[in-house]
Order: sequence, then structure tokens, then C-alpha cells
Amino acid sequence: MKIAIIGAGVGGLTTAAHLGKMGLAVDVYDLGEFAGGKMYKYTNEEGLNWDTGPTLISLPNQIHKTFTDLDFKAPELLPLTEGCRLLFADGTDWQLPHGKDKLISYFKEKDYKLSEELSVSLEIAKDIFDFAEKFIFNDEPPSALTIGLKSMASGVVFQHPKTMLKNYSKVIDALFSNQNMREFFYHFASYIGVQPSAAAGAILSIAHVELGSEIVFPCGGVHNIAQSLYEAGLKYKVKFHFQSKVTSAIPIGSEFKNKGWELEFEHKEKKEKKVYDLLIANGDPYVASQTWINSDYLRSHFLNQLKNKSLKPSESQFVILYDWQDDANISHHLKIFPKSWSESFYKVGVELKIPNDPCVYLVWPHATDKSISKRVLFISAMAPNINSGHLWDNTFAKNYAEKVLHICRERLNLPFQGQIFKIVTPQELSERTQSLKGGLYSATNENFQPLFFHFSGESKVENIFFVGGGVHPGAGVTMVMKSAERIIKSIKKKYRLS
Ligand SMILES: Cc1cc2nc3c(=O)[nH]c(=O)nc-3n(C[C@H](O)[C@H](O)[C@H](O)COP(=O)(O)OP(=O)(O)OC[C@H]3O[C@@H](n4cnc5c(N)ncnc54)[C@H](O)[C@@H]3O)c2cc1C
Repeated sequence: MKIAIIGAGVGGLTTAAHLGKMGLAVDVYDLGEFAGGKMYKYTNEEGLNWDTGPTLISLPNQIHKTFTDLDFKAPELLPLTEGCRLLFADGTDWQLPHGKDKLISYFKEKDYKLSEELSVSLEIAKDIFDFAEKFIFNDEPPSALTIGLKSMASGVVFQHPKTMLKNYSKVIDALFSNQNMREFFYHFASYIGVQPSAAAGAILSIAHVELGSEIVFPCGGVHNIAQSLYEAGLKYKVKFHFQSKVTSAIPIGSEFKNKGWELEFEHKEKKEKKVYDLLIANGDPYVASQTWINSDYLRSHFLNQLKNKSLKPSESQFVILYDWQDDANISHHLKIFPKSWSESFYKVGVELKIPNDPCVYLVWPHATDKSISKRVLFISAMAPNINSGHLWDNTFAKNYAEKVLHICRERLNLPFQGQIFKIVTPQELSERTQSLKGGLYSATNENFQPLFFHFSGESKVENIFFVGGGVHPGAGVTMVMKSAERIIKSIKKKYRLS
């Protein structure tokens, strides 16, 4: 059986290494110069590396599991010695410790009521996450009805005394009386790109991942995870074809009963064709269906979802890779909140405008990993996606970067000496990784938890599977690895492989 995987992102790499280990012939195509997809790095002339995709990894057990299953050494994962520093508009400065118990004790000393509220919220958050892990991540994506029945049976989502019968928009407000904590919880909505009013359940489950479970940093940089998955693939004789853009895949026979696919790709301006029994699409499924998969069924299916707005591009970010020269220490990760997170998010996500007051996020890996230079600083800020019509040309991007740096200078009271090494705009991300409208993840569900309503990665079209961010259970690095595991399970079952 000959298999082609289109995309060497975390999803494609994990799937390729597993299939290679099963002894199958696997070719991986990617338009980029090296493996990683959104897990990307830029290197300056001196050889310093800036991660520009994921900056932190949650649910490290999934990393250990994947590499153990692959019988390959995982990159060393360094636990963060500290949690997150949050700076709010009213001057409140929280240096959150890491882990649920430490967090609650931290607030016990500051504000007893808040610590009690946080304790209840994180318990609910854990219940919701455990529920999803048990009934959703490892199963076929359930329908709304089965979710309802399962969640009632488990007594979590709808029956919890604090969330029962509450309108979603009121859940966060009902859980916290403290406005800054509300803002902090609202901001988890940016991970799924929907308004907080539509997704309290998902927000709480993300809160569990971010606050209640372990967060790690891969020694030497996050890109080492992609590099290790790539090396695992090489060990199992996977063939990688970089700078190779797939331009079409034509079913051999009817799309519902095909005998394989004819794949066309461009390498260094030369077009080539090859025939495969099975295709696995790792890039954004919505973009893939509109650009290279020749299937009328998939094309209209995804187009309709975008047209009728059941799906929309996920959140975009504006990233500054900064060569930082201040002689100062800051936390590994630090968030500068605007006056109203929801208002700024609305401006960016709904009005598609540059906000006056963006939420700014700084990541300084040296705080955890001394092998990484003090100069390496990642700064990101809210940004509208490329539907906004902004072209993100040099002047526009530089002006926004100056505005973001000005916020950092003022709010952190540091000079921010140094220089911008690279600006990564939504436009750049969409061109480099073919992400939908420059979204960080894949398309997201407009009104509800994308965790539950991503499609399974299988479709009526024969001999094609989807893996990665847009696929159940979707988004984030370790979730993408889970999606790869689910696809391997389906492939094994369908083709009776072991
Ligand atoms: C700025 C930023 C910050 C993030 N922060 C975090 C974080 O802190 N923690 C976290 O867990 N996650 C984070 N994420 C999300 C995480 O990076 C993604 O969920 C994950 O890397 C996606 O992997 P993937 O395999 O689904 O897709 P991708 O990485 O998008 O891989 C798809 C690949 O397919 C290739 N491709 C597409 N079309 C074609 C074609 N026609 N021909 C050839 N190749 C093609 C692309 O080049 C790409 O390499 C962040 C993402 C970004 C951009």
C-alpha cells in the first residue's frame, strides 16, 4: 500500500512516523523548507533560533505516549518553574504559580473569596475536560444529542449545580465576582476563536489545561518536537519531499469508489505526478478541499459550512520576534491585558479591525531554559485575520509592531532596547502554511465548542483521511497528536492492518 501525506506539520509527522513503523511505504510532501508547519522557527545570521508557532506545550503525557509508541527518544521536556504573570489595566499584577493547589493557596493569601471561586471553577473545568477526554477525544465525534445524553449521564456539564441551566454567556460571570479573573477566563476564548458568550464549556476545559495541568517547554526550543518526529519518520524509512507543493489529487475512478489517487505536485517549478492508494491531508481541511483535492463532494461540503457560517477562520495573531537587549529578567510567559478583553476581542474577531488596546503576550524561554539566549523574545498581539482586507505590508506591520512595543515599554516599565528580528503577520502564516485566512488553528465552530464538533477526519470520499488542527479532537500540539492517533486507529481498522 502506497501512502502520501500532504503536510509535514505535527499531525502529518506523527501519522507518518506511526505508519512507517507499521512497515508501510510513506511519502510526505510539504511546501516548506523543513518539517514543522505552524511549529516553525526562524534563525538569524548568528544561528539564534526563535520559535514562531507554539511557545508552550500542555498535556505533556501525550508527548511521552507518542514517542514511547514510536519507540523513539522524546525531546527533554522542562517543567515551567513558574506560572504566568498577568498585568491588568487597573494595575493588578498577578504572578501566578503553576498547578491548581499552588494557585489556590496563592489567592488564599490575597483574597479568600477569589480562592474559593477559583477552586470551584477549576473543579468544574477538570470535570468538563475529563468528560471530553473520556467520551469525546477517543471516540467518534458524537452528535449534539449523544453529547447531551452522555453529559447528563456523567452529571458534569448540565447537571453541575454551578452551570446547570445557565445561559453560557453567564457561566464565567456566575463563577467569579472578581473582574480581573473574569477577564482572564474570558481570554481563554481566544484559543478557540469564538466569543466567550458562546463557549463557556470550552473555555473551562481550556482553563483546566492551562491552569490545572502541567505546562512544559521542550529543551532547546519547541521546534525540537517537530524535529524529533521528523527523525522518528526517517528511522522508519518515511520519505520526505520538501519545497513540494501539492497542486491536485484526482481520484482514480469515482470519488466514492476510487482505486487510489493521482497526485500532482510542483518541485522547484517542475510538475510531477505519482499514484497512491491512500492520501492523508494534514493541512487545513477547508483550504485543502478548495485548492488541491478534486472532489466535488468535499469542495461543496466545506464551502457550504463556510458560507452558512457554521465554520469561520480561527483567531489570528501578530507576532514579533524580538532581539531583546535589556539586561532584565521577565517571566517565561506574561500577558498584558487591555481594559476590556472582550471589547478588544470583538474589535479584532468580529469587526476585523486593529484594536486600540490589544492583549499582548510575551514569551521569554530563557526563564526556563538557560541554553536559550536571553535575547530571544516572542511577543504576540491580537490581530484581525486576512478577511479584514489589511495587506500587512511592511509599513502597516511596522506601525503595529511599534504600537505593541510601546504597550510593553509602558506597562512593564522597561526600555525594550534591541531590535525587531522578524514580524510574522496573519498574511505570512496563511502563505507559509496555507492556513485558512491566517488563523492559528483551523476553522473553528462559530457558535459552540469546536472540541465536540470537529469532523472525524474520515469522509464519504474513499481512501482519503484528514489529520491535524481542523480535525477531531483538533487544535494545539498535543491535541493534534491525539488526532493523528485516532486516524491511525481508523486506518488500521479500515485496511485491516496491525
Ligand atoms: C503563533 C502561534 C502560536 C501557537 N501557540 C501554541 C501553543 O502555545 N501551544 C499549542 O499547543 N499550540 C499552539 N499553536 C497551534 C499549533 O501550532 C498547531 O495546532 C499545530 O502546530 C498544527 O499542526 P497541524 O499538523 O495540524 O498543521 P500545520 O502545522 O498547519 O501543518 C500543515 C502543513 O501542511 C502543509 N501544506 C498545506 N497545504 C499544502 C500543499 N498543498 N502542499 C504541500 N504542503 C502543504 C503546510 O506547509 C504545513 O506544513 C500556535 C500556532 C501559532 C501559529
